[in-house]
Amino acid sequence: MRRARVDPDAPLIHHARGPPTRSRPIAQPSSPATAPVIALRGAGRTYGATVALHPTDLDFAVGDTTVLIGPSGCGKSTLLRLIVGLIEPTVGDVRLFDTPVTRQTAPALRRRMGYVIQAGGLFPHLTAGANAALMARHLGWSKAKRAERLTELAEQVHLPADLLERFPGELSGGQRQRVALMRALMLDPEVVLLDEPLGALDPMIRADLQVELKEVFQRLQKTVVMVTHDLAEAAWFADRIVLLRAGHIVQAGTLEDLTQRPADDFVTTFVNAQRSLHLEAS
Ligand code: ADP
Ligand code: MG
Repeated sequence: MRRARVDPDAPLIHHARGPPTRSRPIAQPSSPATAPVIALRGAGRTYGATVALHPTDLDFAVGDTTVLIGPSGCGKSTLLRLIVGLIEPTVGDVRLFDTPVTRQTAPALRRRMGYVIQAGGLFPHLTAGANAALMARHLGWSKAKRAERLTELAEQVHLPADLLERFPGELSGGQRQRVALMRALMLDPEVVLLDEPLGALDPMIRADLQVELKEVFQRLQKTVVMVTHDLAEAAWFADRIVLLRAGHIVQAGTLEDLTQRPADDFVTTFVNAQRSLHLEAS
C-alpha cells in the first residue's frame, strides 16, 4: 500500500488560503427522495442556564463529509454527542437512518456509528487490539473473525500489526489515534463521527494523518462528521463546513462560501483570525 508522504505544512498552509482541492466530484446528486442519514429537527441542548446548542435544523447526506468548526465552547461536541446519543436533546429531535434517537433506540443505532474523540478514549489496561475489538467481542464475534478484521483495519489505517499487542501507554499519540480509528471502524459503520481526532498531535504527525484519514474516508465512502477548531483542516476534509458560534449555526457551506460570501462579520473575523494564525506559524 502506498504510504502517503507530504510536506507537513502543505495541507495546512495551502488550504488555509484557498478552496480545498477536490479529488472527487463536488456534485453528489442525492435525490430528494433520499432521506438524510442524520437529521436534527429543532434539536437543542441546555445545561441549567447554559445553552450549549440552540434549537438547530441540520441534515447530513449519505457519503458526505461535514466539518463542524467554531470557537471553544460554541457547541461542536454537544452537537456530536447528540448525534451519537450520548446526550439527549432538551428540545427537538435527532433522527438517524430515519429513526428517532431515544434512550431505547440509541444502543442499536450506536453500532451503526463509529465515534473517535481527541484523547482516543482507549482503555489503558487493554491492548490496542483488544480496545479496537471490544464491541465486536461483546457482540460475540469469534476470535478468528476479530483477528481477521483487525489485520484488515491495521493495514487501512497504516498501523504496523504487531503494535496491536501493545497497551495504549506504549504507543505514540499518532498510533493511539490510529487504534481509536480502528475501533470506530471495526463494525464497518455507515457513519463516522470524530471530535478533534487530530487535535492532540504534533504538526508533522497531524499532516500525515490528515492525508491518510481522508484517503480512508474516500475509499470507504462513509458519512463523516468531524469536529475541528482549525479552518485549514476543515477545508481539507469537508464537503461542507458548518461554522458555529455560541450554540448557533452561523454559516454552512464551502470554504469559498465562507471567504467569498460570509454570512456576517463574525465569519470574516473567524476566517481572518485563522489565516493570521497560520501565517504566524509558518
Ligand atoms: P465545544 O466542543 O464547541 O468546545 P461544547 O459543546 O463542549 O463546546 O460546549 C458548549 C457549551 O456547553 C459550553 O459553554 C460548555 O461549557 C457547556 N457544556 C458542555 N457540556 C456540559 C456539561 N456536561 N455540563 C455543563 N455545561 C456543559
Ligand atoms: Mg469540544
